[in-house]
Amino acid sequence: MTASQTDQKMFSFELFPPKTEEGMKKLQINVKKLNQINPLYVSVTFGAGGSTQQRTFQSVEWLVSEGIEAAPHISCISSSADEIVEMLNRYKDQGIKRVVALRGDMPSGTGLAGRGDLNYANELVALIRSEFGNHFHIEVAAYPEFHPQAPNADADLNNFKRKVEAGADAAITQYFYNADAYFRFVDSCERLSLSVPIIPGIMPITNYSSLSRFSDACGAEIPRWIRKRLEAYADDVESIRAFGLDVVSELCQRLLDNGAPGLHFYTMNQAGPTLKIYDNLRLG
Ligand code: FAD
Repeated sequence: MTASQTDQKMFSFELFPPKTEEGMKKLQINVKKLNQINPLYVSVTFGAGGSTQQRTFQSVEWLVSEGIEAAPHISCISSSADEIVEMLNRYKDQGIKRVVALRGDMPSGTGLAGRGDLNYANELVALIRSEFGNHFHIEVAAYPEFHPQAPNADADLNNFKRKVEAGADAAITQYFYNADAYFRFVDSCERLSLSVPIIPGIMPITNYSSLSRFSDACGAEIPRWIRKRLEAYADDVESIRAFGLDVVSELCQRLLDNGAPGLHFYTMNQAGPTLKIYDNLRLG
């Protein structure tokens, strides 16, 4: 590997599988725009409640047909070990070599409980390694601001360690707007001798109410100064977007300048906000 290759930052994008034909057409247009910056891969989320499983598969199938490296998310909370292995075999037959391995969350309000054989993502990583050896490059989730169900920060770090020791190749973080949380998390991992790349997950800011709702649910903190400004813009969508672009571009620049190996964008199936941030970056 040459020095320039080692210095190169990795960019990847996350999509969710659309519910309708029209949504799928929009997704295809947006992915073609995103693909212009040559991402390392494009990942597709997976609804643990079972509703999106087929749609995740179809979206991945389309990405593959376009020659784009696709990484399906797999969650273990709602499927048996046999079902997971069957799904992975289908992906393997499609030529998929990369997956994002998660526990998953059951959709709220459904009253559904997990019914899988596996309880945590480290068990899923171990299953993938035992059944498929090194065929799949495995990404797992990491939480610089800590997972909302973790009893404390140390327990969460140790649980992250279990995923790496089970065979994860890399991690993507939950989104955050406080770069120090990321740098401290990376330092803690280094102290535990965990050397996998930890890629910051980046959520563009385009809409305050949905971001606020989602952040409360997943434990990502919107710092007070950002919240207060977004609240003050109320329905002024243009100002929210302009401010969001500034804040998130600065965050990304700081992360990359201080050693983040790349960025994984939660695109919400929209190319525009992600590409604007990307355009603002000074990539050495
Ligand atoms: P785990 O690593 O299993 O951790 C879950 C909780 O259990 C943590 O609190 C952890 O500290 C604790 N824990 C872990 N292992 C153990 C153990 N062995 N014993 C005791 N406690 C343990 N959700 C979806 O449904 N579909 C998706 O496609 C999806 N994609 C995502 C992509 C990324 C990059 C991220 C960051 C999250 C994604 N999520 C997705 C959300 C994720 O499923 C939730 O955050 C879920 O609550 C935890 O998943 P995990 O894989 O991090 O779980």
